[in-house]
Amino acid sequence: MSHPSPDSTSQSSWSLVIHGGSGQFERGRISAETDAGARAGLDRALAAGSDVLSAGGSAIDAVQAAILVLEDDPHFNAGHGSVYTYEGKIELDAAVMDGTHRAAGAIARAHHTKNPILLARKVMEDSPHVMLSGEGADRFSAESGLTQVENDYFGTPERLRQLEEMKAKTSGWFDIDMKYGTVGAVARDAHGHVAAGTSTGGLTGKRYGRIGDSPLIGAGTYADDRSCAVSATGAGEFFIRVGVAHEICTRIRMKAEARAEFLAHEAERSGAALDEAARTRLLATALSADEVQEIVDAVMAEMVDLGGTGGIIYLTPWGHQGYAFRTPGMYRGMASSDGARSVAIYGDE
Ligand code: ASP
Repeated sequence: MSHPSPDSTSQSSWSLVIHGGSGQFERGRISAETDAGARAGLDRALAAGSDVLSAGGSAIDAVQAAILVLEDDPHFNAGHGSVYTYEGKIELDAAVMDGTHRAAGAIARAHHTKNPILLARKVMEDSPHVMLSGEGADRFSAESGLTQVENDYFGTPERLRQLEEMKAKTSGWFDIDMKYGTVGAVARDAHGHVAAGTSTGGLTGKRYGRIGDSPLIGAGTYADDRSCAVSATGAGEFFIRVGVAHEICTRIRMKAEARAEFLAHEAERSGAALDEAARTRLLATALSADEVQEIVDAVMAEMVDLGGTGGIIYLTPWGHQGYAFRTPGMYRGMASSDGARSVAIYGDE
């Protein structure tokens, strides 16, 4: 399922795309309460991120604001509402990336930080590292003054039921039904910078310290002002093997730069003198919305060919944005400076 949206390359425009996980979301399989609750949560997240962007705030702050709302909402598998490990604990993964300088921060297997996205941001801004894990991440979080909670703050009775159901049904590695619910956001601010963030409890019944794609820069999260911002959800192992988020951004950058170079060459051959601004404009308009969506779909097809499922959200610094998912549905939403704001769950929306 793909949803390209039209180009809007005005410099002062901003845009925000969010997800709350992809999975077996079909009409009739989700209760009316869950449907309404998830939509309300997505809408609140869009509102929080939009407030930042419409006030002239940065893409990275908007991503953080949107994800904070989703982490606090138990409908989603991140922060409060995260899924249980096989041993009945909660282990949190999260990442943020700022496309301005490709600064990134990530944490894996954190246990006590109320909002893991804030810890990822701290790693990015207040440490020389990109990724911290386990007890070290917990210690860094406490020393940084972030709000700490008991591990059982993150769980809910419904998540416990899902773990028990999973254990009764399989002798396997994790939940074969793949009830994804990871959250993520990508934003483009009015200055043209992009950012991405992802936060998750991972997969129900994960064991042996398993870490998914979400906190891995380049797999589930990536942002680069030269190409795009991506946040993924799905069967993390496959996103890692393809390097989905980085692969999408790299293909977009290569194609846009090659096209802009070609057009500049043609213009100069016919006598035009191109200044820096003209070259920037060539790059910004090099790819159509359909071409960007084709690149996204091609990378997703590679992931599916390996046996994976899931979805991504993306946007470019030049005004393209959209979704791609290879599951029946994905909790998702989009808002932009032109006043549009929408949320959706099912594939036919
Ligand atoms: N991608 C996440 C992981 O593999 C799961 C999800 O998207 O819900 O940990």
